[in-house]
This record gives sequence, C-alpha cells and structure tokens, in this order.
Amino acid sequence: MKTKRSGSSFNSLNTKRQLESLFLFTTGRCNAKCAMCFYADDMAQKQPDLTFEEIKKLSETAGDFKRLWLSGGEPTLREDLPEILEMFYRNNHITDINFPTNGIMGDRVVDWLKRIRRNCPDSNVSISISLDGFGSTHDTQRGVESFYRAAETLKKIDDNFRDDGHVIKNIATVITKYNVEEILDFVAWSYGRFNVSTHTIEAARGNTREEGVKVLTEKSLKEIQDQIAPYYLLYAKRIGEGMNALGRGLTKFFYVGLMRAMYNIRAQNLEKPSPWNMDCTAGETTLVLDYDGRFRSCELRPPIGNVKDYGCDVKAIMGSEAMKKEIEAIGHGYKANCWCTHGCWIMSSITFNPGKMLSMLIKSNREIKKLNRPIDVSEPILRGLEDKYRLKRDRLQAIGIA
Ligand code: SF4
Ligand code: SF4
Repeated sequence: MKTKRSGSSFNSLNTKRQLESLFLFTTGRCNAKCAMCFYADDMAQKQPDLTFEEIKKLSETAGDFKRLWLSGGEPTLREDLPEILEMFYRNNHITDINFPTNGIMGDRVVDWLKRIRRNCPDSNVSISISLDGFGSTHDTQRGVESFYRAAETLKKIDDNFRDDGHVIKNIATVITKYNVEEILDFVAWSYGRFNVSTHTIEAARGNTREEGVKVLTEKSLKEIQDQIAPYYLLYAKRIGEGMNALGRGLTKFFYVGLMRAMYNIRAQNLEKPSPWNMDCTAGETTLVLDYDGRFRSCELRPPIGNVKDYGCDVKAIMGSEAMKKEIEAIGHGYKANCWCTHGCWIMSSITFNPGKMLSMLIKSNREIKKLNRPIDVSEPILRGLEDKYRLKRDRLQAIGIA
C-alpha cells in the first residue's frame, strides 16, 4: 500500500504571525448525534447558516492565507460547499483544505473531492473520516448506524485517489468511555485495513453532548500514546514511500516529531491547564467562524463578536478591539493563562514557535525511537480482530476491505 503527499504542509513552515488558518463551521446541521460532540449546544440554537454572499465577502477581505479548515455541523450537508472552496482557492490562494466528515454521504464526498481536485489543482485536501471504533462501538458513540458507511467512504476515496499526492487520507478517532477499552486494537486494525496517511487520536474535549464520556486521565492517555507510538513510525514510512532518502528522513523527523510533541502537550493538559512551553497563537494566526457568523480566536474560547457587525470584513475582524483584547486575555510567554488539549491549535502553534520547535522535535523523535516495537498486522491478526469485535464479514467483503 502506498500513499503520497505533495507540497506537504509541514515542510512549508511560515513563522510570521498573521492569519494562516481560517476555521469555517460550514453549517449548523448534522446527520449524526455524537455523544462527545462539543458543538451540540451551538447547533441546537438552530440559527441560519452564513449565506454564500456573506462568505464571499469574508473571502474577498481575508487576503492570502494558507489553510482552510472545515468544521460544523457536517460539512457535506452544505450544498454549495464546492463553490465555497473554489472561491477561497481563487481569492485567497489557499494551499491546504482540511475536510473532516463523518463519512455518511460517501458518494458526495468522492464527487466533491473530484471536483476540488479539478478546480483547485494546487491545493492539498486532507480528508478526515471519523471512525471511532469497531462496528457497534462506533455506532453507539456516533448516535447513528454509520460504521460500514464510513468505512466504505474511506475505501472509495482510496480507490479513486490512491496515486493522487494532493489527497491526504486520515482517520480521526475521539476517545471516550465507549471505545477506550478497544482503542489499541482499533488503531492496529485501522492501520492494517485502510491505506491512510495518518490516524489521529483526540481526547473528547469541550462541553460534550453526553455527560461523563471523558474518561481519560493524563496517565491513561500517556499509556495509550506510548502504545500507539510505533504506528507513527509506520505511517511516516507510508507517507515517505516514493521519496528519496533525504525526503523520507525529513518526513519522518517532522511527522513523528510533531505528532508526538502534540500528544505530549495534550496529555499534560488533560486534567488541568498546563503551559505548552510556547505561545498559543489563537487569534493571531487563526480565526474561527461559527456557522451563524459569530467569531472566535479558537474553537474552545467563547465567541467575541459577529462577522455581520463588521460587514463580513476579515481584516477588520482580525484588527478589531475585540480580537486584541482576546489575544491579550490568552497571553504570551510566562504571562499566558490559557492552555488546552486541542490538537489543531497545538500543532499550528508549534510551527509558529520556531525557537521551541526544533528541540521539541528532537526530544519527540528520541522518545518514539525508544517506544518502537515490531507491529504485526498480518491477515490472521486482522481477521482475528474482526471476529473478536463481531464485524460482519459479508459487509466488509462487499466494501472490499477484508
Ligand atoms: S461531532 Fe461532528 S459529526 Fe458528530 S454530531 Fe458533532 S458535528 Fe455532527
Ligand atoms: S490554549 Fe486552547 S483554549 Fe486557549 S486560546 Fe489556545 S487553542 Fe484556545
């Protein structure tokens, strides 16, 4: 199996603090009911989504930036999403689109990816499919029967974009009380069965729809991270296939280092806020737009205004008194007072703190090297897991993954 990555986002680091990532909550609608959803209360307000015209004004005023992160709600429920992405590509020259989806609408995902590749040819698209565990575990956590559909979506994406270095495939898993016992088996099975570039493991965060789903402690999360460390070396190898020796070495150094550094910071912040040893650049390099136009510096802090009160002008929003006060409240260096477990911001902030980054990456690579061990994902092992967790063989075979 082989997956390529071109124009990698982690080897093109720009450390100037200016808008780099726009997080767009495309819609307040969703076709799942995840127990750990941190956006359920916001969606329950059922406000109208930002219109295409409002998003157009935002795009026209944002200037060039690199990354557009979609969020929601379920992005595939927004019918005009392809036009929105094409607009950001044209107006803002985005180079990375991060497209998370619960994978329920597989044909639409594949059709839209084809369209994005045709009309936004120089942009990478990182497509993240949510898969939280084996079969019924996934379905229970997601509140809808969707395990086989999400798995099929992943397979279809791989069939259609296997040799397209601009389509980066990812599995995203959130750890809760439902899947914590099977997470190590699930990481092994996912690596063996899907040709993805990475598998991110998030701890449930924010105010979850269902109370009591957050069960991890710093110690238990660290144990899981240590156990799954060898898979990151395997993923690095998979990403590096087809590159020369230097490319493979750099990919491994940055990929493994960043993943481990992010996981370390996350574990340290799970039970109580703990300094990241670098600035969080929320509000300086990131802007979050809620589906109804409220805006924030990051996904976890409260809204500080509404884009409609600023004429949907991103430059005015980024330079606003509200944003300045927010950045002050977050703080910098030793005076900072806001820390969390959010992987997107940890990862983004690492790249904007170059002085700290190198030492973090070296330390993380050393740790992972010590934790490495042989991994067996041979066919009998994978089949054994499918039997253990009572997956339906006929469904897996129909999808083409077993
Ligand atoms: S976590 Fe995502 S997919 Fe699940 S309910 Fe929330 S918005 Fe929908
Ligand atoms: S530390 Fe977390 S909650 Fe605080 S500003 Fe940064 S991303 Fe937001």
